[in-house]
Amino acid sequence: MNIDPIMLSKYNVPVPRYTSYPTVPVWKEGIDTERWKRMFSEEFSKNNLHTGTSLYIHLPFCESLCTYCGCNKKITSNHGVEKEYIEATTNEWRLYRQLMSEPPILREIHLGGGTPTFFSPSNLELLIDSIVKRAIVHPHREFSIEGHPNNTTKNHLTTLYDLGFRRISYGVQDHDPEVQRVINRIQPLENVRRATEEAREIGFKSVNFDLIYGLPKQTIPGIEKTIEQTIELKPDRIAFYSYAHVPWTSRGQRLFDEHDLPSAQEKLELYLKGKELLTTAGYIDIGMDHFALPGDDLYKAWLNGTLHRNFMGYTTQRTSFLLGLGVSSISDIGVAFAQNRKSLHEYYEVIDKSELPVFKGYFLNEEDVAFRKYILNIICKGFTKIDPVDLPVLRELCFPELEKLKKDELVEWNEKEVIVTSSGRHFIRNISSAFDLHLQRNKQEVKTLFSKAI
Ligand code: SF4
Repeated sequence: MNIDPIMLSKYNVPVPRYTSYPTVPVWKEGIDTERWKRMFSEEFSKNNLHTGTSLYIHLPFCESLCTYCGCNKKITSNHGVEKEYIEATTNEWRLYRQLMSEPPILREIHLGGGTPTFFSPSNLELLIDSIVKRAIVHPHREFSIEGHPNNTTKNHLTTLYDLGFRRISYGVQDHDPEVQRVINRIQPLENVRRATEEAREIGFKSVNFDLIYGLPKQTIPGIEKTIEQTIELKPDRIAFYSYAHVPWTSRGQRLFDEHDLPSAQEKLELYLKGKELLTTAGYIDIGMDHFALPGDDLYKAWLNGTLHRNFMGYTTQRTSFLLGLGVSSISDIGVAFAQNRKSLHEYYEVIDKSELPVFKGYFLNEEDVAFRKYILNIICKGFTKIDPVDLPVLRELCFPELEKLKKDELVEWNEKEVIVTSSGRHFIRNISSAFDLHLQRNKQEVKTLFSKAI
């Protein structure tokens, strides 16, 4: 369907992506580690036998800096760092194992980065072996990895396949050589093709591509070509992300000329062109930048209402207990979040003392848990039932926002349920923000301050 450009521009305001609720800016530094450990143990015992345990492992090293990158990474060409990092991550896993009353039933493992395929196949095998030997692997496990098309070798793919990995996500971003030059990510189409075809030949059942719109030097003809070349390789899923320009936190972004960035209007046109080509080619728009072919599990999960959203974006995650290992990783145990130290040096230092490397986090109260559920329902299912218990808060903070959205035909709502309309699907973040009590209360405080000032 066509999206009204006026609405796009009206709702083109900074809104969280809701990969967590409450969102990271609300979290506190100096997390109470003892409380985190206690809650971790309790939630583990509640979840493990029931739904299993998910692991995210952050592998931070990259051989060269892509200037647009906002990830937590360490640039080095010294592969001697691999062993030390694996040892630290394995030690962190051991510390968490001591908090578990029984062997974890591993339902999911995701290796993210950085560049996980910076590590040699044998070191990845060492890492996974040392994790799974202290666990039970669920018969219907889902193991996935983020691969760089330039350095994912056949040996990587075979080793990972033998370890049980069936999903791979390649960072493609843009096939245009001029864009690649400016973002310092020279990645010939041939490498993407080879890595994709080899993964399929070896037996990976899902190949995902990450693409980005809004990069420097991107043009409409350029994005058309990138999408056409992507369609030709037929990835099962595509995440078509918006580039976030935050040079004050991502210093690499200062390395290109800001004049090369598309304007807000041009960026919107790049997105619309990409979306049009993808949907015409048979990809389904799941929402919030994710597209999938109808045979893919992400699409099936979207259809049957089991889609989930976490720090990796939309997932088919089947557990609500996610442990993050490695520098800067985030754990989400349903009622609390914790993030590991972001500096490699500090991460090693704390692990060496046999302490958990968490430094920041958030413990959800009952209200957070209830409103997180509303946001997840809106984002993953497109509707939510309302619990009458929450009506007083909803009436004060959320319903006025929903009423504005209703006027623009983005939602239908009453005091029992909220339903996202087909136009509303393109504004899911804005709709979710109506249930973000931290945001709404902040807005109210600002309003009060402003009215006192005039
Ligand atoms: S985009 Fe990926 S490969 Fe490039 S620097 Fe960032 S994490 Fe490393």
